[in-house]
Amino acid sequence: MLTLKDVHEARDRIHPFIRRTRLEHSTTISDVSGFDVWLKPECMQRTGSFKIRGALNCILSLSPEEGGRGIVTASSGNHGQGVACASKLRGYPAMVVMPEGGSPAKADAIRGYGAQIVFCGTKSEDRLALAAKMRDEQGMTMVHPYDDFYVMAGQGTLGIEILEDLDDVAAVLVPTGGCGLISGVAAAVKEMRPNVKIIGVEPAGSDSTGRSFQAGKRVRLDVIDTMADGVRASIPGELTFPLVRKYVDDMVLVSESSIVEAMKLILERCKILAEPTGAVATAALLTQGQKNGALPGSLRGKKIVSLVSGGNVALSQLAEILAGRS
Ligand SMILES: *Cc1c(COP(=O)(O)O)cnc(C)c1O
Repeated sequence: MLTLKDVHEARDRIHPFIRRTRLEHSTTISDVSGFDVWLKPECMQRTGSFKIRGALNCILSLSPEEGGRGIVTASSGNHGQGVACASKLRGYPAMVVMPEGGSPAKADAIRGYGAQIVFCGTKSEDRLALAAKMRDEQGMTMVHPYDDFYVMAGQGTLGIEILEDLDDVAAVLVPTGGCGLISGVAAAVKEMRPNVKIIGVEPAGSDSTGRSFQAGKRVRLDVIDTMADGVRASIPGELTFPLVRKYVDDMVLVSESSIVEAMKLILERCKILAEPTGAVATAALLTQGQKNGALPGSLRGKKIVSLVSGGNVALSQLAEILAGRS
């Protein structure tokens, strides 16, 4: 299990290497949504997403011998950038298994940190299987994108920062893919302030966590359809899901159009560039009244923190999205 002590240790370990992102209040999104909205802009984090936190906590905890055998991971891009950046800091070779047709901007950034890339399939499970094969056959050390207690503890450091920076937080909105992020944040926040609500948000076309949450067991999706490439996991993690069950209060779904709307609002009004996945949590604030999309009415007017989890979007993709072609 993951403890608050693990998260505090992660924070001590990674803090010299990461940026302390500050909460930004948004009057516009507060007015539009009826909540008192604060954004945590992890798109400004080193590597452009929060994923550096977990990757660093894991890689800084390896022995030089484990790291020297080379690090391997599977990622749609952001975790790959975190792993590539953390490996470079330590001087370890790194290999990232990316999806065919994955974001060229993310691939370029990974190569920029000196890591190698292999492309494999389109499903997260196929990529993870290839990374595990490279671990088993080539003796590399695998840094899982979410199903790892060091990774979860690293992501959980976000929760500590939020509680330090804002009093009377009523709820934290967290996008969910494999659930490393929400497990870490929920464990940290709930252990410190049990009455803060933790609400997971995912695209309606990629709702494996919501279905699993309802069913009380991990549910696998066959078809995933969303522009939010950072949360296309087909099933929540084996290690993360028990933490979701233990700590998460609710799961809500958002539409693709609300993700685009949230991206535009965050960019135009807050001058913050979120990638589609980075706008998923904020989309929940704009989705009031829709089926499965409503946040609890008891939160109206209260302080809500929405995690803007990443900002890695190519300008060409951004142009398409802004023009309404994506
Ligand atoms: C990976 C990622 C998530 C989801 O994190 P999980 O730990 O897989 O649930 C959310 N937003 C962005 C930008 C990501 O890269």
